[in-house]
Amino acid sequence: MASHIVGYPRIGPKRELKFALESFWDGKSSAEDLQHVAADLRCSIWKQMASAGIKYIPSNTFSYYDQVLDTTAMLGAVPERYLFPGGEIEFDTYFSMVRGNASVPAMEMTKWFDTNYHFIVPELGPNTKFSYSSHKAVSEYKEAKALGIDTVPVFIGPVTYLLLSKPAKGVEKSFPLLSLLGNILPIYKEVIAELKAAGASWIQFDEPILVLDLDSHQLAAFSKSYSELKSSFSGLNVLMETYFADVPAEAYKTITSLNGISGYGFDLVRGTNTLDVIKSMGFPSGKYLFAGVVDGRNIWANDLAASINTLQALEAVVGKDKLVVSTSCSLMHTAVDLVNETKLDSEIKSWLAFAAQKVVEVNELAKALAGDKDEAFFSANAAAHASRKSSPRVTNDEVQKAASALKDSNHSRATNVSARLDAQQKKLKLPILPTTTLGSFPQTMELRRVRREYKANKITEEEYVKAIKEEINEVVKLQEELDIDVLVHGEPERNDMVEYFGEQLSGFAFTVNGWVQSYGSRCVKPPIIYGDVSRPKAMTVFWSSMAQNMTSRPMKGMLTGPVTILNWSFVRNDQPRSETCYQIALAIKKEVEDLEAAGVQVIQIDEAALREGLPLRKSEQSVYLDWAVHSFRITNCSVKDTTQIHTHMCYSNFNDIIHSIIDMDADVISIENSRSNEKLLTVFREGVKYGAGIGPGVYDIHSPRIPSTEEITDRINKMLAVLEAKILWVNPDCGLKTRKYAEVKPALTNMVAAAKLLRTQL
Ligand code: GLN
Ligand code: ZN
Repeated sequence: MASHIVGYPRIGPKRELKFALESFWDGKSSAEDLQHVAADLRCSIWKQMASAGIKYIPSNTFSYYDQVLDTTAMLGAVPERYLFPGGEIEFDTYFSMVRGNASVPAMEMTKWFDTNYHFIVPELGPNTKFSYSSHKAVSEYKEAKALGIDTVPVFIGPVTYLLLSKPAKGVEKSFPLLSLLGNILPIYKEVIAELKAAGASWIQFDEPILVLDLDSHQLAAFSKSYSELKSSFSGLNVLMETYFADVPAEAYKTITSLNGISGYGFDLVRGTNTLDVIKSMGFPSGKYLFAGVVDGRNIWANDLAASINTLQALEAVVGKDKLVVSTSCSLMHTAVDLVNETKLDSEIKSWLAFAAQKVVEVNELAKALAGDKDEAFFSANAAAHASRKSSPRVTNDEVQKAASALKDSNHSRATNVSARLDAQQKKLKLPILPTTTLGSFPQTMELRRVRREYKANKITEEEYVKAIKEEINEVVKLQEELDIDVLVHGEPERNDMVEYFGEQLSGFAFTVNGWVQSYGSRCVKPPIIYGDVSRPKAMTVFWSSMAQNMTSRPMKGMLTGPVTILNWSFVRNDQPRSETCYQIALAIKKEVEDLEAAGVQVIQIDEAALREGLPLRKSEQSVYLDWAVHSFRITNCSVKDTTQIHTHMCYSNFNDIIHSIIDMDADVISIENSRSNEKLLTVFREGVKYGAGIGPGVYDIHSPRIPSTEEITDRINKMLAVLEAKILWVNPDCGLKTRKYAEVKPALTNMVAAAKLLRTQL
C-alpha cells in the first residue's frame, strides 16, 4: 500500500519564504539569498516526506509566487507589456508580472477555486508567443534527486491552465482559449521529455477544473490533450489529480476512459459522492486510485477509523496493489506544522493535524492497510476524537438555540434603501462622489512592534492605548489633510481582520504559526473555530468612538462580517457551516448595536470573502447564498434608517452573484474593480439596476504603483457611464495595510483630486 502527497506548503513553517521575498523586493538581499532560502525549504520538505515513508513525493510544488504563474513562465506566455526578452525567465520579468513596475500594472489575480489562495490569471490570445521559458520543473526534480529523493513533478494540466486563463487585452472576449491547446502541448512535451531523461518515473497533472460544471466541448479538450500527450508518456506513469469537489459523472467517464493515464486522484473529503461514483461506475482496471482521504483544507486530525473504512471499500473496487492513500488536495491550504504551536492547550492540540502531521497520517493509513498498523497511533487518534465529541468547551446550549431560531425567519431593515440614503444624507451632508478608504492604513514596523510588545506583556495597557491612540490621531489628521469625506481609524490595533474578532469571541482558538499562503508573500493565519460562538463583550466600540471624537467628519466603525469570519477561519467539521455562520452573525449584530448606541453613524461590515465560499458546483450555490446573505442581514437589520451600513468585497468575479449582493441590502458597497479590468462594470452596462451606494475601487492597492489623477479620473468616468453619479463613491480597491505611506499619500492625493475635478464637471 503506497502513500502520496498532492502538494505541500512552500511558505515555510515560520514563513521563511515570505521574509526572503520581501527582503529581496526591498533590495535588502540578493537573488542568491532568496534562492538559498527557497532551496533550503524544498530540501527540508522533501526530506521530511521521505523520512515519514511517503512513496510519491511531489516536486515543482514550490513557487516564488504562484504555481499558475509558474506555468505561464514555463510556456513563455508573458504578456507583451512586460517586454520579456526571451530565453529563460528571470526574477525581473517574473516579479514584474505580479507586482507591476513603474510603467505597467501587475497582472490580474483571482481566487483559486473556492480557496483563499489567489493565482495570477494568464492573459492569452491568438498572438501569444509560446516558448519553453522556465526549466523549473526539471531543475527541481534534479535537485531532489541529488538529495537521493525521487519525486513526482507536478504540473497544472493544460486544460485547467487554459480554462483558468482570460483573453489578453485587445483580444475578443469570446476568444476560444482552448484553441491554444495545440500551441502549449508541444511545450508540455518538451518538459516531459527532459524529465524522462532526468529519470522521472511518475508525473502528476493537476486538473482541478474537472470538478466544475464543464460542457462537452470542454470535456473533449481532455481527450484531445491527453491523447496528443500520450506518445510522450511512454515509459512514464501519469497521475491525473483532481480536488475540491466530486468529479461529475460525465467528466468521470471521460477521464477514466483516457489511454495513457496510469492513475487518478480524487478528493474524498469535499467530494462526498466520489466513493459512490467509483463504486457504481467502476474504475478502469490496472490503474491506480489515489484516494484523498486526509483533508488538505482543514486542520482537524483525520478520523483514522473512518478513513480505513473508506479505503477498504475502495480496495474492494480497485484491488490492494492499486490503491494509494493520499491527501484530498495540496496541503498548501492548511497550516504547516503543529510542532511550532507552543501556545495551544493540549486538549485542543490533540484534535489537530497540520501539513506535517497529515503527512504522517497518510503514511500510517497506508501502513495500516498493508497490515502494519501502529496501534498506539490509532488509539491516540480515537481518544482525541472522543474527547472532542464530549468536551464541554465545544457546546453552548444557549447559543445553539438562539442560532437555530434564526434560520427560518426574515431579517430586513424597516425602510427601503433609497429612503434610507435620503435620511442618511440629511445627517451626513456628503458631497457628490464622496471619497473614503476601506479601513486599514499602512502597518508600520513600529506599530507591529507595539502590538507584539503589548501581547507579550512588555508594555502596559496604558502605554499600548497611548501608542495606538497616537497612531489613530495621525491617520485622522492625514485624512483630513487629504480632504477625504468619510474617515476610517486605520485599524492599527488589528493585525488581521478576522483574527482580531476571533480573539474576542468565544469558541475560537489561535495558532502562533498556523500560516496559510493567500497570494505571493501574503499569508493569513486563520483562527480555529472549535466551539459555539458568542461575544462576551464589545470588541471595537472603544477604538471607534475614540476615533469619532477626534474629528467632526463621519468616522466609519469597522467590522468583519460573519460570512468572512467563517470563510477565513478553519471551521469545525462537526456541524454545518451555516450553523456556525448564524452564531457569528448574532455576535456581530450585538457589536453593530453597541456601535450605533455609541454614536457611530457609519458602520462598514466587510464581507471580503463572501464570494469565496461560493460552492464550485452551480447546484449547490443558491443554498449557500441564501444563508450567507441572510447572515449578513441579521447583523444590521435592527439599525436606524440614519445609520449607514457599508460593506466591502474583494477580488473580482462578482457578476454571477450580483443579485445576492443587491439582496444584502447594504446602504453602500465598496468593491474590488480595478485589477480585474473593470469587469464588474459590465453587469451594470448590461442593465442590472443598482440603487444603493457603490464604490467600485478606483485603483489597485496590491501594487506599489502610484496611479495618476488622470488615470483615476478616467476610471471614474467609466463608472459614471454606467452608474448614476449620486450613488457613486470614490475609494481604492481594498485596505491600505500592505502599502507604505510613501505610496498611500500620493495615491490618495490623486484620488481626491480626481473626485474634486469630476465634481466640478457634474
Ligand atoms: N477593512 C479591511 C482593511 O481595510 C478590509 C480588508 C479586506 O477586505 N481584505 O484592511
Ligand atoms: Zn478588500
